[in-house]
Amino acid sequence: MNETSKIIAQARREGRKALLETEAKVICTEYQIPVTTFKLAENEEEAAEFAGQIGFPVVLKIVSPDIIHKSDAGGVIINLKNDAEVKNAYAKILKNAKKYNPAAKIAGVLVQEMAPQATEVIVGAIKDPQFGQTLMFGLGGIFVELLKDVTFRVAPLTRDDAYEMVTKVKAYPLLTGYRNTPPADLDAIINALMNTSKLVMDHPEIKELDLNPIMAYEKGAKTVDARIILE
Ligand code: ADP
Ligand code: MG
Repeated sequence: MNETSKIIAQARREGRKALLETEAKVICTEYQIPVTTFKLAENEEEAAEFAGQIGFPVVLKIVSPDIIHKSDAGGVIINLKNDAEVKNAYAKILKNAKKYNPAAKIAGVLVQEMAPQATEVIVGAIKDPQFGQTLMFGLGGIFVELLKDVTFRVAPLTRDDAYEMVTKVKAYPLLTGYRNTPPADLDAIINALMNTSKLVMDHPEIKELDLNPIMAYEKGAKTVDARIILE
């Protein structure tokens, strides 16, 4: 059995519909969708040790089946540059999480590489009652949330479909390079869409998927946050 099926079966046994970020990122990796390197720490010392192994700066994030939107819970702290900052952030994240939801089960704190800032894009999937697995694409932040500048295509995607999804958003010129922003690696973005399409076609039990954001670089792309919700 592949890693993705194992993770989904495990979540089901535990009665969880929302996969943890760690689980979603292992699944992404199995489908060749690049993600930030990460390790799950269970105490401050471990967090500092893992940060050293990953390389500074790092990002720390809460991992809890009961906290889906981590920054809303004060559960994400970025740009930590040394052991002391990591240990402080670990304590702060736990404190914030307990305040946000005292009943939340905490799996630990994720230590991950800090991905350099770049143009942020979003790849999503939803299982439409009528059309089935459907992919979504947009640029990060206000483009999706405020302007609803997104494209949709029903899975499975052809490469042409994926290319159209990327080039038909209104914000597309930002991906071709604009003033100080270098052009983004379109092939890397298209690959992420194609691989996500394969993932949701292989696993119809996935109800929602959200790679938000993916940093789009001049060469390559990296998923910084991944969420998967099961039926
Ligand atoms: P959530 O969406 O659950 O609130 P995210 O993991 O998306 O949490 O983190 C919130 C924001 O923090 C992201 O949108 C991104 O801007 C930034 N961020 C998170 N992880 C990283 C990382 N590894 N490298 C760089 N920036 C990050
Ligand atoms: Mg996010």
